[in-house]
Amino acid sequence: MSRETADIIIIGGGLIGMSTAYELVRRKAGQVVVLEKASGVASGSTGSSSACLRIRYSHVETMTMALYGQHTYRDWASYTGLSSPRAAMEQVGVLWMLGEDKVAADTERNRMHSIGAAADTWNREQLLDRFPALSTCGIPVDYVGGANHTCGESDVFLFEHEGGYCTDPAGANQDLLEACRREGVDVRFRTQVGDIRTQGGRIVGVTLADGSTVDSPQVVNAAGPWCNGLNRKAGLEHGWELRPTRIQVMLRATVEPIPGGLPMVADAAGGIYFRPESNGQQILVGSIRMEDEKEVIADPDSYKTSIDEEAKLRLLHGLHHRVPSLEHRGGVTGLAGMYTMNQQDVHPILGPTHIDGFFVSNGYSGHGFKLGPAVGNLLAQIMTDSMIEGDLAVRHDFLAVDRDSLSVREKSVLA
Ligand SMILES: Cc1cc2nc3c(=O)[nH]c(=O)nc-3n(C[C@H](O)[C@H](O)[C@H](O)COP(=O)(O)OP(=O)(O)OC[C@H]3O[C@@H](n4cnc5c(N)ncnc54)[C@H](O)[C@@H]3O)c2cc1C
Repeated sequence: MSRETADIIIIGGGLIGMSTAYELVRRKAGQVVVLEKASGVASGSTGSSSACLRIRYSHVETMTMALYGQHTYRDWASYTGLSSPRAAMEQVGVLWMLGEDKVAADTERNRMHSIGAAADTWNREQLLDRFPALSTCGIPVDYVGGANHTCGESDVFLFEHEGGYCTDPAGANQDLLEACRREGVDVRFRTQVGDIRTQGGRIVGVTLADGSTVDSPQVVNAAGPWCNGLNRKAGLEHGWELRPTRIQVMLRATVEPIPGGLPMVADAAGGIYFRPESNGQQILVGSIRMEDEKEVIADPDSYKTSIDEEAKLRLLHGLHHRVPSLEHRGGVTGLAGMYTMNQQDVHPILGPTHIDGFFVSNGYSGHGFKLGPAVGNLLAQIMTDSMIEGDLAVRHDFLAVDRDSLSVREKSVLA
């Protein structure tokens, strides 16, 4: 080991760990060391993220964090200080087709306006004027019974103008690595933390899988789906049930350009979300159904990473229902990634713990990519007890480990 002590150790070099390291070094928090067991970035949840950037959430704090993330990804080159970052934001907008009534959609729009985000409710004509390729059907597709489907029109939709997606989530992770190293963060790959050492109720350091040690008074667990084992090793009992969960995504090649293009869409009738991918040469489709966030992964180091045939067909069917003119040819592939579902409220736990010097940033569910810049910023504020220009203004205990469970619209990716 080149260094056996550090001011702060971060376990995990995914988007959350690397965002936190970057925010710490931006405020000169001392020697920050990131320990990552894989040989490069984005080997966990981050590598298979859909990287959708939207702000609709049950709580205004989550919305504020998501908006902060959007602004950060939009200004990624200036945030990272890289002249040619790999990642960029595509601001295609986010269309909510949830079958809600006008009062509900207007209420959501007003909540977005209240935090300074641009949003509109649209009727059918306005939607088709902007995105002519989309069907406006609001009748749920019956995947289970297989009943014949007859479309019936909806007339209320909500559009987030500033949302979209990040073109390259793994690239964003790599950009942060480059920015961190430039600022002096010591990032070590192929370095697995095997144990977290405490003494008298406070952190003293970590022991690596090869038996060597790094001492530090502060350790952050940012180990994504591997977080539970490390929390146990630190002796942390927090009462939250954080389950590594298998999540499937389909990719459909497009042969002809879609007239008018596509935004990111959340589609309740089909139970799907989708967005353009690969400069519009593909469409990425995932699920918004609660039942598709239930497959627990026993061992995050070993699970099926290809898509199931049933999921592929269902997602494809939902896409064709929403984009009826989509040609019936074009390759279909897919993948399964994993994220850590917080079973109680589908929000992360972030901040200090009852073990002095031990911090957690776990349980991101389907939100960690968009919230990454904000939670890195928030945790750095908490750990250094300082604020710098441009910092996020969200109360520090919103995601605290000892909070009560938040009440959310539904316990799913739409929380
Ligand atoms: C299919 C899919 C779609 C998604 N879509 C979206 C989306 O549209 N929008 C959104 O906001 N979020 C989305 N997410 C969620 C988001 O990607 C995650 O919440 C986020 O990437 C979590 O980042 P992380 O750094 O916490 O975890 P990870 O990326 O998993 O990083 C954790 C790292 O810790 C390392 N590690 C673990 N144990 C140890 C150890 N003992 N020692 C050293 N290193 C260790 C791992 O190797 C890993 O690299 C999606 C996720 C998936 C899987």
